[in-house]
Amino acid sequence: MSNTTLKPGVVTGEDYASLVHAAKMGGYALPAVNVTGTNTINAVMEAAATANSDIIIQLSNSGAQFYAGRGISDGFTAKVMGAVAAAQHAHLLAEYYGICVVMHTDHANRALIPWIEAMLDEGEKYYQQHGKPLYSSHMLDLSADPIDFNLGESARILERMAKIDMSLEIELGVTGGEEDGIGSDFDEAEDNSRLYTQPADVLQAYELLNPIGHFSVAASFGNVHGVYKPGNVKLRPEILKNSQALVQQTQGTGDNPLHLVFHGGSGSEKSKIAEAVSYGVFKMNIDTDTQFAFSQPVGRFIEENEKAFKYQVDPEDGTPYKKFYDPRKYLRLGEEGIVARLQEACKDLGSKGRSIARS
Ligand SMILES: [Zn+2]
Repeated sequence: MSNTTLKPGVVTGEDYASLVHAAKMGGYALPAVNVTGTNTINAVMEAAATANSDIIIQLSNSGAQFYAGRGISDGFTAKVMGAVAAAQHAHLLAEYYGICVVMHTDHANRALIPWIEAMLDEGEKYYQQHGKPLYSSHMLDLSADPIDFNLGESARILERMAKIDMSLEIELGVTGGEEDGIGSDFDEAEDNSRLYTQPADVLQAYELLNPIGHFSVAASFGNVHGVYKPGNVKLRPEILKNSQALVQQTQGTGDNPLHLVFHGGSGSEKSKIAEAVSYGVFKMNIDTDTQFAFSQPVGRFIEENEKAFKYQVDPEDGTPYKKFYDPRKYLRLGEEGIVARLQEACKDLGSKGRSIARS
C-alpha cells in the first residue's frame, strides 16, 4: 500500500481511502484549506503543486455561498450551488496541477443538515453521469447535540454517502472558538472537559459507523478555532493516542485504526502538530492563517501604492495607474501569500514532497 500511486486530479472513494492510508502509513498529514472563490482554490492547488504535496480543499457553508455570489438572493440555494460550482472547478482543473486534490466541506451543524442533504442530491446526480461523486467527503458536526443524536444522524447520512463512494467526517467533543459562526465560545473559568473528546465516545462511533462506510473523526484535544493569545487551552494530543488504543484493543485492529482530523490548526505549536500526526491525524484544517497570508500582501500593496487606489491617472504628474488597480495585480499577491504560507504548513505536516500522484 505504501507504493500506491493515483492519477492527478480530484480523488474520491477507494482512491481517497488509499490517500488517507498513505498519509497515515507515511507519518504525514495533509493541509485542509478553506477556500471562498477561484483565487483561493487556484492558490491552494498551486501551493500543493509547488510543495509536491497532495491537498484537501474545503468550503464552509458561507464560503460556498460566497463562491456562488452574494447577489443570489436565495442564500440556501447559493450555499448548495456554490459548493457544486467549486467542486466542478476542481474536477476540471485539478489534474493540470499534477497533484491529488480532496474536495471536502467544513462544519455542518444540526441546522445545516438540509445543506448536506441538498449537496448529496447534487452529488448523486453527478455520480450517475460521471461514476464519481462531486465531493470526496462532507463534514457533519453534531458535537453540540447529544451523542446518540450525533451518531444516529451520522449513520443515516453515511449510509447514503457510502452508496456514491463518499466519506464522512464527524466531530466528537467541541472544538473551541468560532468559525463562520459555528463552534462555541470557551471560557477558561468554566469546566472545559467538553473541550476534550472522550475515548469511549470514539469507540461508540467506530462500532456504529465502521460497518457502514469510510469515515473520519474530528477529535477535540484542546484545539481551538482561530488564533488567540496562547495559554488559554492546553493541547493534549495524548487524547488521540488513548482513543486509538481503545479502539485497537477492543476491536482487534492494527495500529491507529481511526482517521483523525485536527481542527483549529492555525497558530498551533509545531511539536504538538507532529505529535498529533503520529497518532493518526491525516488532515489538519487551516483557515485563519491562510486568510491572513492572502490579505497581508494585498494590504501592503495598497499602502505602498495609495494613489493608484484613489486616481486612475495621477492628478499631478499624469501617471496612469491601470497596472496597479487592475485587480489581478493585487489578487495575485494574495495568491502568492497563500502559496508561501502553505509551503510551511506542508513542511510542518510532513506532506512536502510526498504527493502520490503520478501521470
Ligand atoms: Zn473546525
